[in-house]
Amino acid sequence: GKPIRIEHVTKSYNGLEALSSTSLHIEEGEFVSLVGPSGCGKSTLLRIVAGLDTPTNGRVSIADRTVTKPETDIGIVFQSPVLLDWRSVLDNVLLQAEARRLPHDVYAARAQDLLAAAGLKGFENAYPYQLSGGMSQRVSVCRALVHNPSLLLMDEPFGALDALTRDQMMVDLQKLWLRSRPTVIFVTHSVQEAVFLSDRIIVMAPRPGRVEAVLDVPLPRSRR
Ligand code: ADP
Ligand code: ADP
Repeated sequence: GKPIRIEHVTKSYNGLEALSSTSLHIEEGEFVSLVGPSGCGKSTLLRIVAGLDTPTNGRVSIADRTVTKPETDIGIVFQSPVLLDWRSVLDNVLLQAEARRLPHDVYAARAQDLLAAAGLKGFENAYPYQLSGGMSQRVSVCRALVHNPSLLLMDEPFGALDALTRDQMMVDLQKLWLRSRPTVIFVTHSVQEAVFLSDRIIVMAPRPGRVEAVLDVPLPRSRR
């Protein structure tokens, strides 16, 4: 993983501030959860870190390089899985590798490996309509990790899942990122998820996007 520095980032939409001088430093390989009420700017912050949106003021750097355009060394998972219906599970996972023109055979092996670790062995040739919501989301996480990114951004990835599916996924997927240790920013509304997964929990204030508190969470099991 690479370290991230978010420095005095302000983002205005039509004169209204979604983020107001937000600063946050994240260590390499750290798993940080971002919690806070709806509208406090969590998704905006993720988009800016990913280079999908530009700050009105301030800057974000990843390993000392200022983010100015969409980052390539990154994986993103959204609340609802975005899979292509006409591609198999394996070919969906390989999308990010293809987009980056990485060698197919090497990444096909890696994709198989990730799918197995995510509990999807035997589903490589299935199509998205044959999968449950939880399985589709696992595929999305595999896709986000297939090119071995230094940074993984997840925006409420378990938000749409039932509690049992979510609990199982947390346990399974934790194994996935422990293998390659990307730096992770994980947006969630669930304190349970945040405590289970994080090295650190960042609590954002309702408005205007300031960091309200930083909690250092004692880890339930040794991860470091
Ligand atoms: P969260 O993810 O914490 O729910 P968001 O980052 O989605 O918060 O939104 C923060 C604030 O910025 C909200 O008031 C939202 O309405 C506003 N906002 C977000 N994106 C846009 C946009 N593209 N255009 C205008 N306002 C936006
Ligand atoms: P949504 O419409 O649900 O927000 P999109 O698939 O349109 O999701 O993705 C939003 C943006 O994020 C797009 O610009 C897309 O290129 C980018 N993106 C999606 N997944 C990844 C990924 N794994 N790595 C890098 N960029 C991604």
